[in-house]
Amino acid sequence: MYFWGFILNIKKNRIMRKKIVAGNWKMNKSLAEGIQLAKEVNAAVEAVGELKCDVVIAPPFLHLTEISKVVGKKVSVSAQNCATEASGAYTGEVSAAMLASAGIPCVIIGHSERRTYYGDTDAILAKKVLQALANGLKPIFCIGETLSERDGGITFDVVNTQIENGLFHLSADDFSKVVIAYEPVWAIGTGRTATDEQAQEVHAFIRKTVAGKYGEEIAENTTILYGGSCNENNARGLFACPDIDGGLIGGASLVAEKFIKIVTAF
Ligand code: PEP
Repeated sequence: MYFWGFILNIKKNRIMRKKIVAGNWKMNKSLAEGIQLAKEVNAAVEAVGELKCDVVIAPPFLHLTEISKVVGKKVSVSAQNCATEASGAYTGEVSAAMLASAGIPCVIIGHSERRTYYGDTDAILAKKVLQALANGLKPIFCIGETLSERDGGITFDVVNTQIENGLFHLSADDFSKVVIAYEPVWAIGTGRTATDEQAQEVHAFIRKTVAGKYGEEIAENTTILYGGSCNENNARGLFACPDIDGGLIGGASLVAEKFIKIVTAF
């Protein structure tokens, strides 16, 4: 009995995965409004005694540096995208190196809106992930099925392919720096959240898939976020699921009072 307790403790001690709540502001807010929101989020986060998660906000590119100046150490600023290439004649693009040079530590890659509206294929996303990691940025890599894929019973196949094509080219060391966000497309911005059971089922599958490639220890240490109409009312139930390590939040991250309730929902 004592022996198994001891083994269990060793196992538990090796699980170090971070809880994260990240706000994806998408293409919202003027610069002044963004600064105001960042200040409100920062003040609310500072007022929380002991934070149980890392807090990230992802404003549009143009606002990143100004917003970085108004948040303290408890709030990290993330980009929402980066280029596939390092530098050169790529009009309109922003490289991972530029983000790093501006002190931005994170980047969201593969959001379903990028996949759907801007043609970000798995192959493109695999290159973006490499760029992010080569420049010391933490990628928050998004995956998730559409409604017709879920209804067609191929959710696991879709998620598996997105992970394999987007991330499994990485070394174990690089993979360990990646955060995965499971965002069922049918739940994003629709007000229709996955149930705790639906989300947990896919998160457990993702962790098992990662374990199959990189081993149990890396899988147990991988942060997997849920995204899709997560809000101040449903966050607690979702975050209580064993394989859900926090959230990637769209709409509810645009109002500081709602966002902070999600940040404190662990
Ligand atoms: C998102 O865009 O990543 C997202 C989860 O949006 P929402 O919370 O609005 O569904």
